[in-house]
Amino acid sequence: MARSAVVIGGGIAGLTTAYRLSTARPAIDVTLLEAGPRLGGKIKTTPFAGVPIDEGADAFLTRVPWAIELCRELGLDDSFIAPATGSAFIVTKGKLRPIPDKTVLGVPTSLRSLAKSGVVSPLGMARAGLDLIRPDNWPGHDESVAELIARRLGPEIAERLVDPLVSGIMASDTQNLSAQIVTPQLAEATRKNRSLIRALREQRKLAAAATPGAPVFYSFEGGVGVLVERLARAIPDVDVRMSTSATQLEQTSDGYAVHAGAETFGADIVVIAAPANAVAPLLREHAADAAAELASIEYASVALVTVAFSSKSVRHSTEGSGFLVPRGEGMLMTACSWGHRKWPHWTGSDEDKLIFRISTGRFGDERALHLDDDELVESLLDELGPLLDIHGPVLEWRVSRWPKSFPQYPPGHGSTVSRIEADVARSLPGVNLAGASYRGVGIPACIRSANEAAARAIDHLSTLPA
Ligand SMILES: Cc1cc2nc3c(=O)[nH]c(=O)nc-3n(C[C@H](O)[C@H](O)[C@H](O)COP(=O)(O)OP(=O)(O)OC[C@H]3O[C@@H](n4cnc5c(N)ncnc54)[C@H](O)[C@@H]3O)c2cc1C
Repeated sequence: MARSAVVIGGGIAGLTTAYRLSTARPAIDVTLLEAGPRLGGKIKTTPFAGVPIDEGADAFLTRVPWAIELCRELGLDDSFIAPATGSAFIVTKGKLRPIPDKTVLGVPTSLRSLAKSGVVSPLGMARAGLDLIRPDNWPGHDESVAELIARRLGPEIAERLVDPLVSGIMASDTQNLSAQIVTPQLAEATRKNRSLIRALREQRKLAAAATPGAPVFYSFEGGVGVLVERLARAIPDVDVRMSTSATQLEQTSDGYAVHAGAETFGADIVVIAAPANAVAPLLREHAADAAAELASIEYASVALVTVAFSSKSVRHSTEGSGFLVPRGEGMLMTACSWGHRKWPHWTGSDEDKLIFRISTGRFGDERALHLDDDELVESLLDELGPLLDIHGPVLEWRVSRWPKSFPQYPPGHGSTVSRIEADVARSLPGVNLAGASYRGVGIPACIRSANEAAARAIDHLSTLPA
């Protein structure tokens, strides 16, 4: 008897799950329900100034295997492109300064490059150096990223270097981010060696020896959307229902019924790959504790504004991949990526064009939500102008809004997720969760969570009567 599955959510996690289930042997009949009118979720590549440019994610990390492995299976590994430049800047007291060389998530491993960058004060430098001699002070529990960095290298490194970088990845505040889940390499390093700098130097050496000169990020000429398109093509047998929002999950005598408006889809197994705030109402009736914890996961809203200028209008050099803005600078923008340098094909055949992707919004800062598109662009350009010495009109612009897009992982988030998973496994055997709300927001982590959810769901099938 053919088994059936319903996958809820058509972002990267849902698509990967559908791919894994539909290519499993023996075959499973898979239905994928997507609430919106398109697949991809937070991955969306659309034309800007005539070239496909990402509105959300623009690359994925190569240092973890899950995205690379999936791309290889889909025959995409000969289409990888890497950012053309790695060096970046940070705003310090209103000026752009280079991020010191040899940093790991903003943590300097060379005190000499830290001194040269001018990002921290002489006192901040001296405090960072104390890391080499201070005794071990690990508190023995999951701490925030800010606490970890401040206790080893002092508050200046935490606020001026690590927070803009790590908070930028999560649209958050490192004071409220679990070191264990968000920066596991830092959490592990601080447990291995009392000196964080020494442990990270060792990690860098090992990584360089394992993959010498390998790029840290990959994308495709057509943007990250290429991965979504290829995955969608790799699931021809999946019944994909667009604009179909799952509204209720019902346990039946022979499995599950997923209700979506007037339609009902029966299934032996269900994988829910929608954000936690959309999952909570589906589980409330069956797994009240899990539903309450899912509903308590908070989200940050962000917006990305893409702008094009003539190179004649911008006097400041844009050699590098862009810059980050520490929270303490009080600006609306959180980062600006120099897209024409990072991804040179973004300018098409027009070499005179410069393309910037300006990010705004982080947890606790919703100013962008209260501005309409014109006001938002104007306010961001008012900040960008003096930093890059811009003396000319913006040629084109586009606003991409991502409300409630970044789940927040406070210290203890790992234990919360374990409790949620245990309650769901107990109350709803055969139902699994996947996606960015749990153990990593990056594309590779979402793919990993989908691989694991699909594998658990397939295992469950073997426990069912024939
Ligand atoms: C602006 C931005 C930039 C980013 N940059 C990067 C980057 O460069 N690199 C990187 O690795 N990561 C990046 N990320 C993070 C990454 O893109 C996301 O975490 C990831 O794509 C989330 O995938 P997902 O499948 O878990 O969820 P989503 O993409 O959110 O997909 C979930 C899907 O479920 C659907 N859904 C919701 N409720 C229901 C329902 N009831 N029924 C049916 N469907 C439903 C939604 O419509 C959505 O399509 C970025 C994110 C954003 C917002």
